[in-house]
Amino acid sequence: MVTRPLPIEQNLRQVQERIAEAALRAGRDPAEVTLVAVTKTFPPEVILEAYAAGLRHFGENRPEEGAEKIPIVNAAVPGPRPTWHMVGHIQSRKADLVVDCYDVVHSVDRLKIAQRLSRFAVEVGREIPVLLECNVSGEATKFGFAVNRWEEDAAQREAFFAEGAAILALPGLRVEGLMTIAPLTDDPERVRPVFARLRALRDALRERFPRLPWSELSMGMTDDFEVAVKEGATMVRIGRAIFGPRREEA
Ligand SMILES: *Cc1c(COP(=O)(O)O)cnc(C)c1O
Repeated sequence: MVTRPLPIEQNLRQVQERIAEAALRAGRDPAEVTLVAVTKTFPPEVILEAYAAGLRHFGENRPEEGAEKIPIVNAAVPGPRPTWHMVGHIQSRKADLVVDCYDVVHSVDRLKIAQRLSRFAVEVGREIPVLLECNVSGEATKFGFAVNRWEEDAAQREAFFAEGAAILALPGLRVEGLMTIAPLTDDPERVRPVFARLRALRDALRERFPRLPWSELSMGMTDDFEVAVKEGATMVRIGRAIFGPRREEA
């Protein structure tokens, strides 16, 4: 009997090779890049298949959808439980759910949600690693702190730094870096400046707030992860390249 590798496993190997190649070409160690498999719309069985193929970091973009799947997956995995990343917009009333279910939050996109997450984290005695989601491209449809003109517009930059300072002061959260979603385009080279500017912003934050390492840059998805890795991504969030196309998302 011929046992064929699962498509997820094949896809995963290809993605890992592409990440490694992009890292090496940029003079980076591929081990610096964490692959977060974005499992939104896929059921626990598929996530377990991905676990079996070796994945240990999973991302969801809707707090409730993940909250339903996470306990099922955690209970079924044969080894250490995976790390769960919240990568999508969080409504204020979902902050407690996020604190209960997720290990890392990439999508802190406003001071108010940071304050809510902080409150619930303190209540349950956790310190949650978080990233500040930045709207680097200025697209009106995107969440995130407005930083599209941070280099040339001192007022915008200072407004962001002030909110950043307020978030850094919150208990129960540990700010580890920045996250962004690049504009949709079929030419990945066009998004390179977006990633480069997020990295430059990170460097500016490092100067302003040197108490923190600002080590994480979460950037790069199926269509643009190689460019993101070349520009310094430490976390790439990949769905379709591993799991195939998603069914119609509501
Ligand atoms: C869906 C999603 C991803 C993954 O997108 P793909 O194009 O499927 O790789 C990454 N980040 C966020 C915030 C997402 O919502």
